[in-house]
Amino acid sequence: MASASEFQHTVGKIASLSGTSLHTGEKVSLKLHPAPVDHGIKFKRRDLQDEPTIDATIDNLKTVERATTIGEGSVRVHTVEHVLAALSAMAVDNAIVEMDANEPPIGDGSAQPYVDIIKKAGVTAQEEPQKFFDVREPMHVESKTGALLVLLPDEKFRISCTQAGPNNRFTQFLSMEVTPAVFEREIAPARTFVYYEDVQSLMEKNLIKGGSLENAIVVRGEAVLSKEPLRFADEFVRHKILDIIGDLALVGRRIRGHLVAVKPGHATNVELVRALSREQTRRSAMAVSRMMPAGHAGLDTDEVMKILPHRYPFLMVDRIIGFEGENKITGVKSITINEPFFQGHFPGHPVMPGVMQVEAMAQVASILLFKLTKTSSRVGYFMSADQVKFRKPVFPGDTIFIHAELTRARGNRMAKTKCHCVVNDAVVSEGELMFTFLDK
Ligand SMILES: [Zn+2]
Repeated sequence: MASASEFQHTVGKIASLSGTSLHTGEKVSLKLHPAPVDHGIKFKRRDLQDEPTIDATIDNLKTVERATTIGEGSVRVHTVEHVLAALSAMAVDNAIVEMDANEPPIGDGSAQPYVDIIKKAGVTAQEEPQKFFDVREPMHVESKTGALLVLLPDEKFRISCTQAGPNNRFTQFLSMEVTPAVFEREIAPARTFVYYEDVQSLMEKNLIKGGSLENAIVVRGEAVLSKEPLRFADEFVRHKILDIIGDLALVGRRIRGHLVAVKPGHATNVELVRALSREQTRRSAMAVSRMMPAGHAGLDTDEVMKILPHRYPFLMVDRIIGFEGENKITGVKSITINEPFFQGHFPGHPVMPGVMQVEAMAQVASILLFKLTKTSSRVGYFMSADQVKFRKPVFPGDTIFIHAELTRARGNRMAKTKCHCVVNDAVVSEGELMFTFLDK
């Protein structure tokens, strides 16, 4: 039985906040909306046509220069880390962050305004348990600039952080368990700080129009310039912890582990998130049942061929072994030396062509989309493949488990799926496939 704190949470009602965006200096208003279980955190750009939404996940990360930016296509949302830190630390798993600009209001440069709006909206438990990432063995990332992050197994989510400025000025250390109460009291009020030498050229180029001593502490030499006195003697390390929590929220799961961070920055934070996400993909792939389910839980070859028009030698799925909810499907294809492509790819050294794995993903995803649209009058056409990676070769005798997950659907017009192929518990290939629906 999960305890109350282990259920997913959303906000109780809509709440709003307005202010100035840091980079453009324009007015922006932000609204938090409740969202259903397993929705995650999504940003919505109300100021753009069709009001596109962007999942706050590592797959949508675009840049980490000065702040964390996510996006999809040409749509961007900048400086997401403070609002994500507040949502994550205050235990909000599912919410829509609606904005009428490309950046949340900067407020006073801390996460305090976001904690306030979350408290105004209230936090309510939902029916499904939270999703965790349990750290099972030490993981680490480091950079040439001296940043080091080590993640160790722990039953709680803890952060121990050492921050140090140029020439080790302002070296500070703090260690804590991250809970809503601790975050609200110890971390949320800590403001952004910048080194004068880093922002001087940006100010001259007018790239931080909304920036002022109202929303950042400026460190010049040994001097600390800010509108109000420091809120904590070690405010800088507290803000570093705030940024870590915000960046780690891009994992999309609660972390059970102890993060030891030395001189952290956005670049290494997100590198760690990428490593966690890869590990999560590997674990999910291993957790799949390998049995042919009885009844209507799967589809045999005959049933597959009733849905897919493909035939030998182009049918790249033998069976569907399972559906998980509405959005996930797993198919199987056994690869034998008799596959026609082995004759030429390559003589004496048979390796399955990567494009055939992409075709297998597309066919399995099509079956999922067919089940979703529940009509045979419209067919899904494979439009594009993104982020395709071939990680390991596939040989005759291998059995490929093909996983597809619907990540986005726009009405009856287009759908996006995330797919990966697994052989012997290892991901051999992956990609994001887009489909459009047309009348037959
Ligand atoms: Zn920050």
